[in-house]
Amino acid sequence: MAKIIDGKKIASEMLSEVFMEVKALKEKGIEPCLAVIIVGDDPASKVYVKNKKADCGLVGIRSLEFSLPADTTQKELVDLVKKLNNDRSVHGILCQSPIPKHLDEKEVINTISPEKDVDAFHPVNVGHIMIGDGAFLPCTPTGVMEMLRHEGISAEGKRCVVIGRSNIVGKPMSLLLLAQNGTVTICHSKTKNLPEITRDADILVCAAGVRNLVTADMVKEGAVVIDVSMNRNDEGKLCGDVDFAEVEKVAGYITPVPGGVGPMTRAILMKNTLTAVKNLTKQN
Ligand code: NAP
Repeated sequence: MAKIIDGKKIASEMLSEVFMEVKALKEKGIEPCLAVIIVGDDPASKVYVKNKKADCGLVGIRSLEFSLPADTTQKELVDLVKKLNNDRSVHGILCQSPIPKHLDEKEVINTISPEKDVDAFHPVNVGHIMIGDGAFLPCTPTGVMEMLRHEGISAEGKRCVVIGRSNIVGKPMSLLLLAQNGTVTICHSKTKNLPEITRDADILVCAAGVRNLVTADMVKEGAVVIDVSMNRNDEGKLCGDVDFAEVEKVAGYITPVPGGVGPMTRAILMKNTLTAVKNLTKQN
């Protein structure tokens, strides 16, 4: 039976560390602040933003929420980002995805000052991740690396397979594993013979967003299986890409959904906000 990697517990330890660092900053007169922009009424986005605010509350980071109507214009949104860029009391800025279709998300991300881009989506930060010297690391893949580190698992010399090539999960995940000297294969919807590739993985990261995509016969005995995805099953319950009950019998380590990568992503966002504070206060 696989060891279950408890993301909730690891994340809670990280948040305690962030709390102590925030406390120390406040004693020096610096109050970390994260601004979150949400446009429209997407229910999932609303939950994510609520959770981010709750995390800020837990660690003592001031949170600002800008809830804009669905018919917000591109100019209004970009102007708000510029205003927050220029506000010295704001250290981190993020715009919750997705935004309504009439808006250009790329332009919004490109407008966020790279020094305040706590999601690490700005091309400047993406470039740093590529080179391997990033100040900000992307929240979800970094959360995965932190889980591996916590369990004493290194990617060095391992065969790593990442299912998914999105800009926010799959691609940066692959780069972080590569930076740790893993031998990385990236799979996507056009990949042929997926099971043949995944069976070779010592570390398998699943981020396709397809329920039950990964079954026990696709997993090497003793492999580390990380399930990033957040899908809903027929009862509306949260689940990942991995057939947990069956894969658990084969894998060496496995992450649950919920309670795996999700809490780690949130904890890294808090850490990134602290990084922004440190970098910005160094510059000023
Ligand atoms: P995305 O943009 O939809 O990307 C999904 C990727 O999976 C794409 O590259 C796609 O290939 C690939 N894919 C889809 N079906 C596949 C299949 N049958 N076989 C192999 N590859 C397949 O999604 P995302 O934003 O990366 O997110 C992925 C999942 O992670 C979602 O469930 C999302 O909710 C979850 N997520 C969780 C967290 C967290 O904190 N836990 C954070 C972010 C996202 P193509 O490129 O060819 O289309």
